Amino acid sequence: MWNINFCVWIISNITMNLRNQEKKIELLKILSKGCKKHPAYRAIRKATERCEECVIVWKARVELNKLEED
Ligand SMILES: [Zn+2]
Repeated sequence: MWNINFCVWIISNITMNLRNQEKKIELLKILSKGCKKHPAYRAIRKATERCEECVIVWKARVELNKLEED
């Protein structure tokens, strides 16, 4: 029989991974849409704070990088 703590640990790991996957997909959607006003912006460098949409794309890129580090 498996230890109950071990089972809880496995299940929480799986749910966390699933949540990460869902989050990744959302972030990739934001990145692929990009900014309507600046289609050339690909979030390679930090966005200037002037365009809100570019900042959103940049934040998505940063979040995605964080998720990929784990
Ligand atoms: Zn923009």
